[in-house]
Amino acid sequence: MLIPHIMSGQTVGVLGLGESGLAAVAALREAGVVVYAYDDKNTVAPIKDCTVLPWQEWPWESLDALVISPGIPHLYPAPHSAAARAKTLKIAIISEVELALRAAPKAKLVIITGTNGKSTTTALIGHCLTNAGHPVAVGGNIGLPASSLTDPGLGGTIVLELSSYQLETTPSLAPEITVVLNITPDHLDRHAGMNGYVAAKTLALTALKAGGTAILGASDKFVQQLAKNNEKLGIRTLIAKPELAHKEQQQCLALIGDHNAENAAAAKLVLRSLGLSDSAISNSMASFIGLPHRLQTVVTFGDITFVNDSKATNGSAAAKAIAAFKNIYWVAGGLAKCDGLAPVIPHLNNVKKAYLIGTAAQQFSRTLHGHCATSIYGNLNSATRAAFRDAKDSSDGATILLAPAAASFDQFENFGDRGNLFCQVARDLCSNQGGAIA
Ligand code: ADP
Repeated sequence: MLIPHIMSGQTVGVLGLGESGLAAVAALREAGVVVYAYDDKNTVAPIKDCTVLPWQEWPWESLDALVISPGIPHLYPAPHSAAARAKTLKIAIISEVELALRAAPKAKLVIITGTNGKSTTTALIGHCLTNAGHPVAVGGNIGLPASSLTDPGLGGTIVLELSSYQLETTPSLAPEITVVLNITPDHLDRHAGMNGYVAAKTLALTALKAGGTAILGASDKFVQQLAKNNEKLGIRTLIAKPELAHKEQQQCLALIGDHNAENAAAAKLVLRSLGLSDSAISNSMASFIGLPHRLQTVVTFGDITFVNDSKATNGSAAAKAIAAFKNIYWVAGGLAKCDGLAPVIPHLNNVKKAYLIGTAAQQFSRTLHGHCATSIYGNLNSATRAAFRDAKDSSDGATILLAPAAASFDQFENFGDRGNLFCQVARDLCSNQGGAIA
């Protein structure tokens, strides 16, 4: 655990008791902080040495900080009432990641941010460092919360995936290396528009330690602008051009698609900066198995392959998935995001038909009209079954791809549940017919 001892004796409120909130409570308690905590869902069991109490009843005049969960708005579209009260009382609003950094770990810090590809790139870097025997801890917005990590110590590295919300509430951030993969429209309600979103991502660069290194994606205009700004500011900047990792990509099934070449290139630049040789990097990347719900090959039946990309919750991510395959029977829909299907349109010649579900189905059907065939289904199960029926009839080396271009919350608890159902339906369909499970 990373314990913020310098906060000993303070009084802190923790709002939101999901995984990161509970980790914050644990780290604060260990540091000798008086902790008040609350979750609006009000389903939290008593926590030892922590007063779980509605936030309205906290001793606000004595609070030194408010630790806020990344899912709770502290600025836009409107601050949560507790955040508004903290602001009025000039109480610092901080993330759980901030606590980990106040513990002053001795290891180097590498942070990964961007709209899409953060988890894949973070996991890939973690995999390669572990493989090379480099002391490493990986977490943040993926896996363990930052304050639950163990400091690998001098000579080691902490690799943190950070969201835009975490960047906005982590003032002690001072990484040796920052990766910004891409910036495309997403979460704009939480940042009052694109300018606010880009500003939040920019914090990952302005926070760099003196002499630190920025590693930037090559493919979108917002990140290209950041590269120009870095040049003016004299920040050492490396560009993750996809061709840098084409060899590694060819050796690894989990790194399908140009976007994964870019993720792998960013990872390679990080790993080189940490002293790994190119041959160690290539060898390690070859054994990366990828993450579930990101272009995950689920099962094959003859020349039909089911691919689960449930994490494609926005148009930009779905566009990359569609660009990566031919003859696609595309299952899409859910709660549409602000970029809608616009990024997908240039790649629709890869799509045979779209099988649409969820709240966005009508809207997606209108957008796709004239570009590809569409049908609307009540749920994921029936859409996937219909896609399989059509793919079997066509015998053209089909990919049945779940890449929703939308959030899952209208029909599922989260993207993982959506992806798991797709995998289950795919496996059932194939095992009934003797398919091969990947
Ligand atoms: P994040 O943690 O940023 O959400 P993930 O690695 O979990 O990123 O991937 C989320 C989605 O974005 C997946 O559908 C994945 O296929 C897609 N994706 C991965 N890398 C990129 C990238 N560099 N550009 C665009 N889309 C990507």
